[in-house]
Amino acid sequence: MNGYGDTYYARTLTDMAQHPSLEGLVAADVAIVGGGLAGLTAALDLARSGRSVVVLEAERVGWGASGRNGGFVGPGYATSHANIARMVGGEKAKALHRLSIEGVRIVEENIDSLAVSDNKRVYGKMSVLRYHDPEGLARQCEMMQREFGYHLDVMPTDAVRSVLRSPKYYQALHDPACFHFHPLNYARALARAIEANGGRIFEKSRVTGCDLNAAEKTVRTARGEVRARDVILAGGGYTDNLVPRLRRSILPIATYVLLTEAAPERIAAAVRTPMAISDNRRAGDYYRLVDEGERLLWGGRITTRTTEPRRLAEMMQKTMVSTYPQLEGVRVETAWSGLMGYARHLMPLIGQLQPGVWYVFGFGGRGMNTTAIGGRVIAEGILGLSDRYRLYEPFGLVWNGGPFGVAAAQLTYWTYQAMDLAKERRAARAA
Ligand SMILES: Cc1cc2nc3c(=O)[nH]c(=O)nc-3n(C[C@H](O)[C@H](O)[C@H](O)COP(=O)(O)OP(=O)(O)OC[C@H]3O[C@@H](n4cnc5c(N)ncnc54)[C@H](O)[C@@H]3O)c2cc1C
Repeated sequence: MNGYGDTYYARTLTDMAQHPSLEGLVAADVAIVGGGLAGLTAALDLARSGRSVVVLEAERVGWGASGRNGGFVGPGYATSHANIARMVGGEKAKALHRLSIEGVRIVEENIDSLAVSDNKRVYGKMSVLRYHDPEGLARQCEMMQREFGYHLDVMPTDAVRSVLRSPKYYQALHDPACFHFHPLNYARALARAIEANGGRIFEKSRVTGCDLNAAEKTVRTARGEVRARDVILAGGGYTDNLVPRLRRSILPIATYVLLTEAAPERIAAAVRTPMAISDNRRAGDYYRLVDEGERLLWGGRITTRTTEPRRLAEMMQKTMVSTYPQLEGVRVETAWSGLMGYARHLMPLIGQLQPGVWYVFGFGGRGMNTTAIGGRVIAEGILGLSDRYRLYEPFGLVWNGGPFGVAAAQLTYWTYQAMDLAKERRAARAA
């Protein structure tokens, strides 16, 4: 289907235009490898500042994680604030969190300034507990208010269960400033804006070779090459061996999403809120109503295997029905996977490899806001406007551990799953 696979977003895509594939020699100020939201945000900021930019995308703009995700946009990173504070200390962790909030604003501002009409934002997110802990949530609210002036509130169990009809759920943290949207339409809107500002976008143009050591860098595709003073590498979880050091710094982790058939009454018996929902397990479930409540878009599970499992739809349906037995029998219309890039420290990889060679990837499962701020700080670095990208320096290009890293990641996930399950069982016994 239009080169994006059979995802909900591909089915509801409004802008079908195909960008050409690169042919021949093109000169630019900046060449960007990867047309996900990280590469596109950097490209737009640079193009708006008058730089000539070329984006080279192996498939189609937003084809990667950026155009097949849950569409939840909220602050934070793929690892917790407490973990970040342990790694870099409290003050730096706070500065980083503020950047993650700025990332949300960048997305909002882009949608507003580009007058994107095919991207309704639906505000509100519930992060639901699968055990009883209102005090823990209240402490989190208090901390976010005190440290960042960021407002969250606690929804008691009754309020949660009145809109999410599952006995698995207890209290929820409600974030009114989070929203969900159509990430692929957004990516395509950024691409249009880049072109409107003089930038050039090439699809079906995988970069297969490069020479990054000279002052003028070269990146090559099958039928063309781009020469530029600066190169940004933004391949996300699809980062290949183009620059082996980058590939060795991330683990691609697959995660899955399903779309149900249209079954508004059955779905309303389970989910009665338009808000974005996620549970608090590591790699837990996240979902939302789409098409005005006609269907449910449900994501979850992670694995280190990067090929799509056979019977993916069935596997995902089981996960959904385990939370909402009333959805038994609701058909899954399509299901798909996407790759997230994770560094071992779980923080984004943002910085400069050598003069004029920039990288911005590794956003894990929290990329809608962090690709925005990542793209922006790299653009600021290239433009000489700021060196905010250095705030990410403590999270270097650490070796991913090769096959041992893959095995360790899978094992860690299973361990977390077991711990989450044990916690829920204790909660159920205590209830
Ligand atoms: C199923 C799923 C659900 C998610 N849900 C959410 C969510 O709800 N909220 C949230 O905040 N985050 C979510 N995420 C995470 C988020 O989608 C990612 O962190 C983010 O989109 C990464 O953006 P990116 O630009 O770094 O990479 P991508 O969007 O993956 O883009 C990288 C692009 O680079 C291209 N590329 C790679 N190598 C080359 C090359 N050699 N030449 C040319 N092009 C190349 C690829 O084709 C790809 O299109 C989810 C991810 C997945 C997979």
